[in-house]
Amino acid sequence: MNLAYERIRTYANRLNLTQIEAILPRLAEEAVSKELSYSDFLESVLAEEASAADERMRRTLLRFAKFPYLKTLEDFDFAAQVSVDKRQVKELGSLKFIDEKSNIVLLGPPGVGKTHLSIALGIKAAESGYRVYFTSATDMLSRLKKGFSLGRLDEYLRTYLRCSLLIIDEIGYLPLDREEANLLFQIIAKRYEKGSIILTSNKSYGAWGEVVAGDNVLAGAILDRLLHHSATINIKGESYRLKDKRKAGILSSKEVTPES
Ligand code: ADP
Ligand code: MG
Repeated sequence: MNLAYERIRTYANRLNLTQIEAILPRLAEEAVSKELSYSDFLESVLAEEASAADERMRRTLLRFAKFPYLKTLEDFDFAAQVSVDKRQVKELGSLKFIDEKSNIVLLGPPGVGKTHLSIALGIKAAESGYRVYFTSATDMLSRLKKGFSLGRLDEYLRTYLRCSLLIIDEIGYLPLDREEANLLFQIIAKRYEKGSIILTSNKSYGAWGEVVAGDNVLAGAILDRLLHHSATINIKGESYRLKDKRKAGILSSKEVTPES
């Protein structure tokens, strides 16, 4: 390795340009054989460096999002779920809702694809460079409760406030106590018109009073902010998992009926 390459390597390290060392010999040879101008040569080096940086960013954002599993919009079988409007989901997949800081609420019984669609939209957002954070409602509220009891609520809130898209999964499976309901309100109110939320729930809006400690006024205040700028996707039908089993003859159609 000659001295010039040594020095380039030192600069590249200092500037965190991770690709140069590997690509420089090839690109330099290409530049000679194709008689590239200096600026074309520099552009080709920077282009490879930039695409590697994009890929690193994409991986970091996907890791940061803490998705429980990775499933995409392409993995979603729209033919099997006729209550979901494919066009609406594709439109949401343009991610305009994130720039507009509006919300998406996915409602429906268990197993119909609410979490899948929320993850799929979240992956799209992370791949486009948005900071996304996925959490179950239970995890988020128990962490916030802990933060509150330690007198460090602001610090604990930050995780759920600093992302461009917060996905809160499974509101309503467990009823919230008063403290949890108030913490949920804080998250929704603090993100209102500042950052998007995707929320999934097995409860229709009318049942939200029950969910938030029987407090209809608080439920109204939460829904007011959540729904002001929002799209609701109401998914109907039976669980995708059970449908598969049923098709395979493992369950009879009477044996299990999903709650609605
Ligand atoms: P929910 O959150 O509504 O309870 P999930 O999103 O967890 O349901 O879906 C349950 C399982 O079924 C997941 O593995 C999901 O990927 C799959 N699934 C549900 N609906 C569909 C669909 N229409 N196409 C492909 N997979 C689906
Ligand atoms: Mg789910």
